[in-house]
Amino acid sequence: MSHQLPSHQLPEHPDWLWRTPDPKRSYDVIIVGAGGHGLATAYYLARNHGITNVAVLERGWLAGGNMARNTTIIRSNYLCEESAALYEHALKLWEVLPQELDYDFLFSQRGVLNLAHTLQDVREGTRRVNANRLGGVDAEWLDPDQVREFCPIVNTSPDVRYPVLGATLQPRAGIAKHDHVAWALARRADAYGVDLIQGCEVTGFLREGDRVTGVRTNRGPISAGRVALAAAGHSSVLADLVGLRLPIQSHPLQALVSELLEPVHPTVVMSNHVHVYVSQAHKGELVMGAGVDSYNGYGQRGSFHLIEHQMAAALELFPIFARAHVLRTWGGIVDVTPDASPIIGPTPIENLYLNCGWGTGGFKATPSSGWVYAHTIATGEPHPLAEPFALERFTTGALIDEHGAAAVAH
Ligand SMILES: Cc1cc2nc3c(=O)[nH]c(=O)nc-3n(C[C@H](O)[C@H](O)[C@H](O)COP(=O)(O)OP(=O)(O)OC[C@H]3O[C@@H](n4cnc5c(N)ncnc54)[C@H](O)[C@@H]3O)c2cc1C
Repeated sequence: MSHQLPSHQLPEHPDWLWRTPDPKRSYDVIIVGAGGHGLATAYYLARNHGITNVAVLERGWLAGGNMARNTTIIRSNYLCEESAALYEHALKLWEVLPQELDYDFLFSQRGVLNLAHTLQDVREGTRRVNANRLGGVDAEWLDPDQVREFCPIVNTSPDVRYPVLGATLQPRAGIAKHDHVAWALARRADAYGVDLIQGCEVTGFLREGDRVTGVRTNRGPISAGRVALAAAGHSSVLADLVGLRLPIQSHPLQALVSELLEPVHPTVVMSNHVHVYVSQAHKGELVMGAGVDSYNGYGQRGSFHLIEHQMAAALELFPIFARAHVLRTWGGIVDVTPDASPIIGPTPIENLYLNCGWGTGGFKATPSSGWVYAHTIATGEPHPLAEPFALERFTTGALIDEHGAAAVAH
């Protein structure tokens, strides 16, 4: 585990960390959505490109969307080289950001295990390990004895319905404290002069022909040189307002935490096959999730049967948790693309930029998403890491299929 700063250095309350300015009439760049991606984009626009006349508009409260609702798993062991490069860039940034922002994220590189329960899982896992190693991403294949050694509380008995046949391990993967990440990025963006404006909903766009010139909001129109969407589950709703149809479906995704337990779970365990993932938060709650609810919707809640299934799966893998009580469940709305990869880049509408489709796994990408999006907005040209993730791939067919590696949510 790497805790860069002692926790007594943490600022006490987020209200102290940034100003609450009224919107100006005009900005060089407006970012829609103050989740992790919007905040990281504002930070890197200022830090890497010197662009500080920027507003981040948030209809609710800062980082109250998926940024506040995710289960904080960070890893870069995706299958395709385009994705592995993007997520590995993020992981490298995670390793330096707490120092750079002078804020402890409780970034804990405790490793992530992806369990295999069938021959097909074993083939998929070993293939991914090989692909990751070729791409410079740390990855290992563990047999069942090694799984037991690494995480003794996983049930590796051959007698269970879906025995553990092995697992991929990414040792540098782990978890971080999501709200700290948001506050740290917000504090530094604010210090650069970026206006973070909460309670400001974008309700439409100002246009001159094929060019976007600003946004309409519940606090009046604001003009902008460039408008950059970072609205996660609401991306297609926003894009619809400007006549852009996105290949996105919005689904509820749920998670839950147990009561506090003493430290028993040393890593993060994910299983696509029995369909659950489990880690233990720094305070001691078990953090658990599974896949999306299959229906489309915008209500930030999900259906009960998914919670039941994920708890049954968790008990199969971890009989030790049989008596743990659930403390709370919640949901967020995630934006899912047909190839389970994000969309980043310019749009057919001049001055309008898009960052969406991170689906169930965008928290881990927060720093590199901001890095490449800021570059794209600042220069008008996609960052090389973002180039393969252009919207055009849904017409050219150059899809980046990550369904296998993104499956159980993340
Ligand atoms: C239950 C759950 C578990 C997850 N677990 C993980 C995980 O373990 N690891 C991982 O990598 N990812 C995970 N994710 C996915 C991850 O949270 C998202 O991919 C990522 O947070 C999306 O980017 P964001 O942080 O900017 O989105 P958000 O935080 O959702 O930011 C978008 C913001 O846009 C705002 N907005 C929307 N419409 C408007 C408008 N019209 N005007 C102004 N503002 C607007 C919203 O209010 C919101 O605050 C999980 C998601 C959920 C729901």
